[in-house]
Amino acid sequence: MKAEELVKDIPIFIDFIPRGAKIRPGIIPETKKFIVIHNTGNYISYCDAKWHNEYIHKQACSEKPREASWHFSVDDREIWQHIPEEESAWHASDGGYGDGNLYGIGIEICVNGFPGVYSGEEYAAWEKVFLKACDNASILTASLMKKYSIGMEGVKQHFDFAPDRKNCPMQMRYAKENNTFSRENGTIFNRFLKKTKGYLENET
Ligand SMILES: [Zn+2]
Repeated sequence: MKAEELVKDIPIFIDFIPRGAKIRPGIIPETKKFIVIHNTGNYISYCDAKWHNEYIHKQACSEKPREASWHFSVDDREIWQHIPEEESAWHASDGGYGDGNLYGIGIEICVNGFPGVYSGEEYAAWEKVFLKACDNASILTASLMKKYSIGMEGVKQHFDFAPDRKNCPMQMRYAKENNTFSRENGTIFNRFLKKTKGYLENET
């Protein structure tokens, strides 16, 4: 499939799951308020953005799909879009912590190749690639923020909406300074916010 759009030289492949699929509810809210950041949780090396596009298409065709859907999958090279961002999807929750599904645009950042630990040579090699994926997600996030007039306060973690306080985006929420997971001190999440802000301010 050919890249149909480019955001700052990153190809975006647009391949929507079919209308009417259970995991594409087709609800269009009056506005979009949030960009909701996730990490995929699939550590196998081939589970990149393209793989997640194939995965969500298979789910869309399944009679009993896993009840999950999101708008974009991002890796260190490509962005794949599965659902028009105007529509709602099932990646956060609509509940006591806010309407993340209804008003959110869900971005899954691929963690393929994650070695399962947060130190050592293997981690360092993986992190280099993962930071590139996060930078690609920053560029995408900044462009969506401009399109939908969303401020920095609208950039959320899945954790923010999850009734079970899910540790997502896990690898971004890892705080190196005290070897724990954190809402406010995630090393890579804070770097992501800083980069996103930078792209937002420099692109105007
Ligand atoms: Zn998530």
